Amino acid sequence: MIGRTASGPSVSAIAMSTTIPFMSLVPGDDAADIRAAIDRVIASGWFVLGPELAAFEREFADASGAAFAIGVGTGTDAIALTLRALGIGPGDEVITTPLSAAYTALAVMMAGATPVFADIDPDRLTIDPAAVEAAVTPRTAAILPVHLYGQPADMPRLAAIATRHGLTIVEDSCQAHLATCEGRPVGSVGAAAAFSFYPTKNLGALGDAGAVTTSDAALADRLVRLRNGGQTDRYHHQDAGWNSRLDELQAAILRVRLARLPARTARRRALAARYRAGLASTSVTVPPLCEAGHVHHLFPVLVRDRAGFMAHLDREGIRTIVHYPIPIPRQPALEGLAVPDACPVADRVCQEICSLPLHPDLTDADVDTVVAAVARWPGPVSP
Ligand SMILES: *Cc1c(COP(=O)(O)O)cnc(C)c1O
Repeated sequence: MIGRTASGPSVSAIAMSTTIPFMSLVPGDDAADIRAAIDRVIASGWFVLGPELAAFEREFADASGAAFAIGVGTGTDAIALTLRALGIGPGDEVITTPLSAAYTALAVMMAGATPVFADIDPDRLTIDPAAVEAAVTPRTAAILPVHLYGQPADMPRLAAIATRHGLTIVEDSCQAHLATCEGRPVGSVGAAAAFSFYPTKNLGALGDAGAVTTSDAALADRLVRLRNGGQTDRYHHQDAGWNSRLDELQAAILRVRLARLPARTARRRALAARYRAGLASTSVTVPPLCEAGHVHHLFPVLVRDRAGFMAHLDREGIRTIVHYPIPIPRQPALEGLAVPDACPVADRVCQEICSLPLHPDLTDADVDTVVAAVARWPGPVSP
């Protein structure tokens, strides 16, 4: 039972009156700069493929340790266009993870290729290199690892497998802006990396946006064409490309936010470390930190009675979300493909995973409030 202090309300009453939202998407201390950027674009009268995008592409490539960045409409398009630009399509298999936003696999299907699922590593929660190697067939064209929750996949081992089998790597970095793997920026091991700037991401626009980074000049050229209807010159279409561009308003907003991203990433790391220390003595399992370059897009924990745990935190005024409740191969959208590949680790993790609130505007006290609420969770009731 929660005690009552001599002079104040009970601890649980305070906790219940404090709502900690999962995140807030209303611009905070960057609001004035964002408005100024929007006004600048409106005044320019140039809304698509203009100077703001060119500047953002330069700045984002530099921040990501890549030679080129190509702005596109969404993270999903970034993956699909990259596969197309690499000549990967019908008849090709792309090995990816069952634990991700389903868009990862849907992008493979958009390119006309077939997603094949290799189970995840139970600690890292990213694709298991041994399972990848077991899934390679003569039709395998690429590996599409996801740097999930902000933690890079095991790129050195995946790179060794890719070399051994002559495969291309495309990195789904939609949750991993500025992340590094053994000191190397994500995206620098594979042929290219796909980023999303969906509003909830670590670098978020006020709408949809995405980008591909690469250091391959020929691949960058093909992507610049493919995102713009396959045009070489105005009204001259060499390939049957798509129309998937990052507009000037979003590019200008992203420039404002990119300048703040290193500080906000450092804040995410500090908050995650505080969670990790605080949660150590509670009944939840915190997945181990496997990479110092983790950027903590989300802060997942594993709990047996997830529904009970989430209801408990909800009563305490703390909002949680499940990322992700269903392994991708079990989604109805993929039913037309072969039987779900056996991914027992992903099956279990999808039953137990739950994301606690983590965003750079949380205070240390907010994290302590969440930790205290988790500590009041008794864990699964014993029979
Ligand atoms: C968000 C996300 C995507 C899709 O990005 P969109 O911009 O929403 O299309 C793909 N993969 C992962 C891992 C994501 O988190």
